[in-house]
Amino acid sequence: MELRVNDSKIVLVQGDITKESTDAIVNAANSGLRGGGGVDGAIHRAGGGAIMKECRAIGHCPTGRAVITTAGNLKARRVIHTVGPVYRGGGKGEAELLKSAYRASLALALENKLESVAFPAISAGIYGYPLSEAASIALTTTKMFLEEHSGIKEVRFVLFDDKTFDAFSGELKKIS
Ligand code: ADP
Repeated sequence: MELRVNDSKIVLVQGDITKESTDAIVNAANSGLRGGGGVDGAIHRAGGGAIMKECRAIGHCPTGRAVITTAGNLKARRVIHTVGPVYRGGGKGEAELLKSAYRASLALALENKLESVAFPAISAGIYGYPLSEAASIALTTTKMFLEEHSGIKEVRFVLFDDKTFDAFSGELKKIS
């Protein structure tokens, strides 16, 4: 499923982001950049120790921001590590922080001339963001960014399980 936005497109696929050959893949990291469970663990396992070495050198990333490393053994050229908010009921600025995580990641891709970027569903796993809201923020923020900036040709959302893929598909239909 896809949506064209000016010269770019937003594409939804179901799968494992570590297998993507986009210029960049985005990691749902924690602010200590220490690796962990979920997609973060999968990216470090598949990419090898070079990525963790760079993360240790960078040291920290605040919630809503993003940093970039090389991609070790992955097919992608770079990994953008962003930190989404932990969901604590919705009254702690979570929506703004989640938007900011997507915008910061896309801005880093643009700065580094990366034309295709793959995202997982940031904050929608261990961090507990309600799925349809997380999907809506991901897609509307990306659409707005692509309307305002040219240079990124494709943003792919690589969604791991059926329920996440279905939530993103439902929200993409709403904004198409
Ligand atoms: P967060 O801590 O930001 O919630 P998680 O890694 O727990 O991050 O979950 C984010 C999303 O990534 C979830 O939808 C989870 O199912 C998904 N996920 C886990 N492993 C992978 C993978 N290999 N590729 C793509 N998505 C993945």
